[in-house]
Amino acid sequence: MLKNLISPKLKIYMNYEQIKKRIAPCGMYCGKCFSFNTGDIGEYASKLQKALGEFDIYAKRFSELIDEPKFLKYPEFKEMLNYFATPQCKGCREEKCKLFKDCKVRGCTEKMNVDFCFECRDFQCNDTGFDEHLQKRYVRINERMQEIGVEKYYEEIKDKPRYQ
Ligand code: SF4
Ligand code: SF4
Repeated sequence: MLKNLISPKLKIYMNYEQIKKRIAPCGMYCGKCFSFNTGDIGEYASKLQKALGEFDIYAKRFSELIDEPKFLKYPEFKEMLNYFATPQCKGCREEKCKLFKDCKVRGCTEKMNVDFCFECRDFQCNDTGFDEHLQKRYVRINERMQEIGVEKYYEEIKDKPRYQ
């Protein structure tokens, strides 16, 4: 089967426009957001959903068979898994971010005619609408992109978890 002929280490290179779809103008990595519709979290959640099948019935049985009360929490786990498996967002460049509702960056980068904040003459500005934590990340990420370029930055972060 073709699937078996493809090395798991095979690198898939993305061009600048493809990378832009995954990295927001502020530098945050939409591609690893739980809400990104073609992201890893949605894909893995969907695979796990399929692998579990009709586990509901078994969860109850296993809680008794092996006396493990954790299985009784399966309905809550399943609810969360279903949520992760149906991500809706197309990324910051296509729609308004559902998480950071006060973000002013996308509209501003369009006005300033830049793809990323580090390309703007006013970087680092304080008019992003971010809280302190996000503002620090925005500065750190943009400085790194400025230093090594967008493509290399993408290579650096593409396999790291977004939530760390
Ligand atoms: S725009 Fe916001 S909600 Fe959508 S993928 Fe990016 S960070 Fe996630
Ligand atoms: S003014 Fe600030 S938010 Fe707007 S593009 Fe420049 S750096 Fe980004």
